Amino acid sequence: MQMVDFEFRNELIKEDFSLNYCYQCGTCSSSCPVAFVTQGEYNPRKIIEQSLLGLKDMLLKDQKPNVWLCCTCQMCVEECPQKVFLTEIFERIKNKIVLLGEPYPENFKIQAKSVIQNGLAIPLTQPIIRRREQLGLPNIESANIKELKKLLDATDFEKKIKVFEVSK
Ligand code: SF4
Ligand code: SF4
Repeated sequence: MQMVDFEFRNELIKEDFSLNYCYQCGTCSSSCPVAFVTQGEYNPRKIIEQSLLGLKDMLLKDQKPNVWLCCTCQMCVEECPQKVFLTEIFERIKNKIVLLGEPYPENFKIQAKSVIQNGLAIPLTQPIIRRREQLGLPNIESANIKELKKLLDATDFEKKIKVFEVSK
């Protein structure tokens, strides 16, 4: 049985007060491309509802709907009549999942490893560079690895996400 956890609910509201403004209209879900392709299995409105109710286990352990499926396109944020910052709230939930040591998709670990090694979440390959040139897009600069390492060390990043457990 899922228990309402008021402390958890208040924690989420404290981290992003916009959560409190949601009146469950469902506009976010109807504008979400991931909800569309998963035929409603992924449902941002439901994640917000679970957050408002403080359903901690459902959000962090069961992950139903799976918050990791959000592709951060920001459609829901643009369409929400109440200006709820859904993607910010989802980021907080993802952070809590990682910190709790609950499972999360391997591709996020791979991206984290790439950030550490390349200064970019998705390394630039020749096809990507060529395509960007064809489209007239500017060059992408990777972050300064040394500077980045200082930040990652200060936040204990590698340990928290256990990136080097990623199988090769
Ligand atoms: S669109 Fe905004 S107000 Fe409506 S359900 Fe989604 S988060 Fe809540
Ligand atoms: S940001 Fe995430 S939840 Fe919002 S519309 Fe895009 S995929 Fe859906």
